[in-house]
Amino acid sequence: MWVYLERDGDKRLKDVGLELLGKARELAQKLGNSEVGGVIVAGSEEMAREAIYHGADKVVIIDNPDLKTYTPMEYAEAIAQVVQKYKPEIFLIGATKRGRELAAYIANTLTTGITADCTALEVDPKTRDLLQIRPTFGGTQLATIRTPQRRPQMASVRPGVFPKPQRDTSRTGEIIVERVEIPTRRTRLVSIEKRIERDIADLPPVESADVVVAGGRGLGSAEGFKLLIDLAKLLNGTVGASLMAVRAGWAPHTRQIGQTGKTIRPRLYIAVGISGAIQHLMGITEAKTIVAINPDPHAPIMENADYAVVGDYKQILPALIEELRRLKNQR
Ligand SMILES: Cc1cc2nc3c(=O)[nH]c(=O)nc-3n(C[C@H](O)[C@H](O)[C@H](O)COP(=O)(O)OP(=O)(O)OC[C@H]3O[C@@H](n4cnc5c(N)ncnc54)[C@H](O)[C@@H]3O)c2cc1C
Repeated sequence: MWVYLERDGDKRLKDVGLELLGKARELAQKLGNSEVGGVIVAGSEEMAREAIYHGADKVVIIDNPDLKTYTPMEYAEAIAQVVQKYKPEIFLIGATKRGRELAAYIANTLTTGITADCTALEVDPKTRDLLQIRPTFGGTQLATIRTPQRRPQMASVRPGVFPKPQRDTSRTGEIIVERVEIPTRRTRLVSIEKRIERDIADLPPVESADVVVAGGRGLGSAEGFKLLIDLAKLLNGTVGASLMAVRAGWAPHTRQIGQTGKTIRPRLYIAVGISGAIQHLMGITEAKTIVAINPDPHAPIMENADYAVVGDYKQILPALIEELRRLKNQR
């Protein structure tokens, strides 16, 4: 049973990998003789030790300095090589933005199946099948998917779905460094451009702010977040986002509010272009006052709002910002 351990920069691992190690341990116990492994691309021994403290018995570090920077095809190729060598029965991946992409490439390279965004995982001890459980038909049904003929069985799980196991520094395990060559590179990193994230990163975290202005898919583009940033600054607040805005790459995951994001309790919550799906509302039940801006008067967020402003944010936000600036200048 293996888990892909995605790095969070050069120093640490993302929590989702550690969360999956906890789940893998539980499933391994149910299967009896299964051991829990982890794989890190261009990681350090310190990271591998951290994985062991969180439940891994064995960690493979793929050693290739050219893989310091993530490129999906080369990462998939390297991981597929070690998977073919060690032959895990099950391979779990955190469904981060990169994880989702990588999982598909790995499954394709290994010609196996992948179930994305599982919300629960079980095993059938008789067949050793992984039961990959996820919502389907718009969340109205839960499907249980098996991969009976192909190995490894692959599933991805979003961050925050499973709890992170307790860190136990008395745990020991094996660290293996595998030198992996990529004969032909198909992708090359040309440059990294910081986008709107840099401006958002300067604002306080959503958990501690008194005022949170959050944006959703209805903003239509990252540009919309610029207005949100201006409004948040005027209100001494910060910026949050729905899952869809995070997925679109308009805001980082640390800003996501809801079931698989942050639970917040601000004095004022302003939801802009957010429909108010139940998973989003779960994160704001403790907000004191909710203001929603949405052209659809029947969107669920409107029923949950103390003030429902029906309209296009492109008209409402600039007017609101102008008025707040005017009031500020008067003081
Ligand atoms: C297991 C699981 C966990 C999840 N966890 C989360 C979570 O933590 N957080 C989360 O947010 N979601 C979560 N989701 C996803 C959730 O179900 C919704 O899909 C998501 O919240 C929808 O995001 P949205 O409101 O931005 O987009 P949409 O639902 O597409 O809504 C966009 C809204 O913008 C409005 N709009 C359009 N144009 C404009 C305009 N010009 N001005 C103003 N408004 C406009 C539309 O009327 C619409 O209401 C989860 C789902 C699952 C299955």
